[in-house]
Amino acid sequence: MRYTQLLIPTVKETPAEAEIPSHQLMIRAGLIRKLASGTYTYLPLGWRSLLKIIAIVRAEMDAAGAQEISMPILQPMELWQQTGRDVVYRDILCHFEDHHGRENVLAPTAEESVTALVAGEVSSYRQLPINLYQINVKFRDEFRPQYGVIRSREFLMKDAYSFDATVEGLNASYRKMYDAYCRVFDRCGLTYKIVEASSGGMGGSDTEEFMVPSTVGDVIAASEDGSYAANIEKASVDPLPLTPQAAAARKSAPAMQEVHTPDIGSIQAVCAFLGTRPEQMIKTIIYSVRREGHDTQDVAAVLVRGDHEINGGKLAALVGGEAELAGESVIQNVTGAPVGFAGPMALAGKVARFVVDHAVAAMGAGVTGANKTDYHVRNVVPGRDFPLSGKNVVVADVRNAVEGDTWQGRRLVFSQGIEVGHVFKLGTKYSAKLGATFLDEKGATQPCIMGCYGIGINRILAAAIETGHDDDGCILPISIAPFEVEVVPLNCDKPAVVAEATRIHDALSAAGVEVLLDDRDARPGVKLKDADLLGIPLRVVVGERGLRDGNVEIKRRTDEKPALVASAQAVGQARRIVDEMKAELLQRHRR
Ligand code: ATP
Ligand code: MG
Repeated sequence: MRYTQLLIPTVKETPAEAEIPSHQLMIRAGLIRKLASGTYTYLPLGWRSLLKIIAIVRAEMDAAGAQEISMPILQPMELWQQTGRDVVYRDILCHFEDHHGRENVLAPTAEESVTALVAGEVSSYRQLPINLYQINVKFRDEFRPQYGVIRSREFLMKDAYSFDATVEGLNASYRKMYDAYCRVFDRCGLTYKIVEASSGGMGGSDTEEFMVPSTVGDVIAASEDGSYAANIEKASVDPLPLTPQAAAARKSAPAMQEVHTPDIGSIQAVCAFLGTRPEQMIKTIIYSVRREGHDTQDVAAVLVRGDHEINGGKLAALVGGEAELAGESVIQNVTGAPVGFAGPMALAGKVARFVVDHAVAAMGAGVTGANKTDYHVRNVVPGRDFPLSGKNVVVADVRNAVEGDTWQGRRLVFSQGIEVGHVFKLGTKYSAKLGATFLDEKGATQPCIMGCYGIGINRILAAAIETGHDDDGCILPISIAPFEVEVVPLNCDKPAVVAEATRIHDALSAAGVEVLLDDRDARPGVKLKDADLLGIPLRVVVGERGLRDGNVEIKRRTDEKPALVASAQAVGQARRIVDEMKAELLQRHRR
């Protein structure tokens, strides 16, 4: 292909709107352009890369026995109401009312649609297992689209759904997808970690994420010995021991004492005012809990240390429903004070659930809100001034892991990663609600046991660039680069140079190599800079001087210096290197 026949609008300057290298480089290399917040157009080179990623994903899904289908992006809201996810997903659902007054959802995922399909088509255990997948557009009204195509509002997902008759069947289907995901990411040239994840709004039991280690993205907590790794949304922590100092502080603590803290709200401000530290403070947060199948909401009070954050997934599991911060009137009702002054004293009797984080249960004496406007209390002793046991009291792990925590005695260390894939064991949540049942061998009706499996197509490209670039531009794995080889004639005013470059291009192309010929009449410096920016893995440079001695230059994007090669051998040499690069990616998985 010829450069002049493609729209490749490279940009010299770093775009101000882009915070991270992959976003900057995807714009600078002319791969994407923004249409509006969280929506991107893929230009010819970006789209070529995406198509290559799609081909890899498709090949591995097919090889794993999944069957490709295509479901509508437009979904009826009623389906979402039937599973209750109209509520759980409400913050990210893009939806609209059509001319007939019906609510429609633009697919953020497709568990409901595929389960409804299977409900209609599968009736016997003989038809199971079945795994259906599609590769198409998803919409999520992300509150904060970020990092270009890493978190956009419209994106491409490969979503697969398995249906099994038995739990063993589900485990086998899950394993097949897990293995296929390893092959997909290996073939795409990504380095990745597999971590335990939180099932969030999806429901279900086991779930793991494929993360590309990076300086942006989700926080991963892992044990130092590498035997445990989990998304911070999921990572468990050991309870903290009651230290001798804390035990002594409890014994010697005087009675609780109210202090006037006028116009002081934040933890930092209270600490500065009272001369305490955040880890000596107890945050008391009031939640409303919505339980499936219940119309009314419960109130829960949750206690964590001032330096800790409540973990939404852990809380939801503990209270058995979706927990959201309570509104002002609920808070006023249970604490007797406006928002910002809640304390645990006398609260346990007024809420359905009283959840105390392990770390709070191990405190000596703390400071907390006084349930009274502009007042805090000191010398608050766990077990003395609020209960650590009782019918509605749970002492448990309800916070995010932090530096210094351990899990099963091993110290946790923290890193970040971009989630490119996610596998879930769903169980029967969707099949039971949407009637995806089958008759088993004995003629009994059973709900299908489901799994679901997602891959972010766009994120693969962004993650590859985020972890593969240098100051000059992208360094793309050959499997997903828009082209495998770029041929650069340095002086397009010299017919001999153009003729030789064209010959090499044509020969490579005829041999099945994906090759780009930079036929622009531009200065050599401009062409070489753009070649570095695009990051095509191999380049062949044809210059007037070299050609006089019958030579051209060959350079991998990662080589320091080019190698001089006899022009007559250039095609053979380039093909060999391309084959080597491809073989190396295929080898990865076997290692
Ligand atoms: P995140 O936690 O990053 O919001 P998620 O866990 O909600 O993602 P899933 O529902 O697991 O996402 O979707 C499957 C895959 O789709 C993800 O692993 C990710 O690669 C991709 N994906 C999800 N949301 C987006 C988005 N807004 N933009 C681009 N890709 C996305
Ligand atoms: Mg996910």
